[in-house]
Amino acid sequence: MGRLDAKVACITGAGSGIGRATAELFAAEGATVVVQDLDLASAEETITRLVGAGHMSLGGDVSDEAAMNTVFEEIQGDHGRLDILVNNAGVFRLPGDGFDQVLAGEGPQIRHMGYEPFMRMLAIHVGGTFVCSRAAVPLMSDGGSVVNLSSIAGIAGWGPAHYAAAKGAILGLTRSLARELGPHRIRVNAVAPGVIDTPMVDDLDPAMLAPLIGMTPMGRTGEASEIASTILFLASDDGGFVTGQWISPNGGLITC
Ligand code: NAD
Repeated sequence: MGRLDAKVACITGAGSGIGRATAELFAAEGATVVVQDLDLASAEETITRLVGAGHMSLGGDVSDEAAMNTVFEEIQGDHGRLDILVNNAGVFRLPGDGFDQVLAGEGPQIRHMGYEPFMRMLAIHVGGTFVCSRAAVPLMSDGGSVVNLSSIAGIAGWGPAHYAAAKGAILGLTRSLARELGPHRIRVNAVAPGVIDTPMVDDLDPAMLAPLIGMTPMGRTGEASEIASTILFLASDDGGFVTGQWISPNGGLITC
């Protein structure tokens, strides 16, 4: 018996890192998984790693309203419903966001951050979470669980302004949707990881990560599988009375 037997779950950005680890864990727990990613080839690669049958991969940019409506129409057509949505797709850096100037010692980053990359970051994380959640709700007529990926950046301000603003907004969206959807038996929660060893972090300068790891009581980065297990708790009946909350697996980096 798996904890997600007979459940249908959609995970955005599941072609890599935390999303891929979550897809693997969900499939191992009995779910049928819809692996969504902007990079369809990486989504297809994730599918090859999943146990069980019936999983599907779908492409598209989560901030593209029409494309995401099509994704959820396809889920409706193939599965007839959805039980779990994990809004995981995201980026940490964008061209023109001033990060290169920080690396060149010309910070603070906000001085060099363009308005367009600032708004694009919000569109991907907050817009994507909104668009996918709105399209998923009608498919959750038997109840369901939505898990949104925030970050310690959205709680404590670690990370650049566009990313921290987006991840903080996801917490507000999570609380609002939890209140609105609770009467419809749909729970909405957020996971706010610390520094996790994924391709997103591989891109960063180790000199920038070292102080964060140094301040982490557990003295290491987290594994994608450790975030997947937190997501599983919230997505499954184990978290059956939990809604409107965030959990931060961060090795003790922030404790509030
Ligand atoms: P990752 O780069 O390994 O994976 C992100 C995936 O999202 C990629 O497969 C990418 O193709 C996809 N993606 C990016 N933009 C997309 C879009 N517009 N539409 C659809 N898919 C898109 O990153 P990760 O570390 O696994 O991050 C997953 C989530 O966790 C993100 O929301 C990230 O902000 C969050 N997070 C990560 C960390 C960390 O330290 N790695 C910490 C806190 C929060």
